[in-house]
Amino acid sequence: MTEILGSGWMYRNPLATFTLGLVATASLFIVAELAWLHKLPWSFAVPIMVTVVAVGGKLLYTSVKAKNADWVCLKCGNEDSICRSKYCSECGARMVAVKRRVRRCPNGHEVSEHDKYCPKCGAKIEVERL
Ligand SMILES: [Zn+2]
Ligand SMILES: [Zn+2]
Repeated sequence: MTEILGSGWMYRNPLATFTLGLVATASLFIVAELAWLHKLPWSFAVPIMVTVVAVGGKLLYTSVKAKNADWVCLKCGNEDSICRSKYCSECGARMVAVKRRVRRCPNGHEVSEHDKYCPKCGAKIEVERL
């Protein structure tokens, strides 16, 4: 089963998402320092810090998922993992990011798309039938 992640801006720009996540997480320290230096009440600063960590963490997590995503057209099945296209070049429907399918050997090792035998244990990899 392919898991649909989404088609939003964050999935098309994993690098920018990652940077935003870093900036958001870094501003945690800025808020903490402001609270420390200017004696802001912690009851005021802590909720901001929690929000910042939640947003930053979510952005970082999404950027990692987006980097490992494939782009497919749900209408015609066209796959395009390179350009992170917004619309399908075959039929014009909206493309979505899906979780990249990982192939495994019978013993559970991760193998690449074209491996016929597992590089780790030599087990034969059965060709998937649709
Ligand atoms: Zn299409
Ligand atoms: Zn194996």
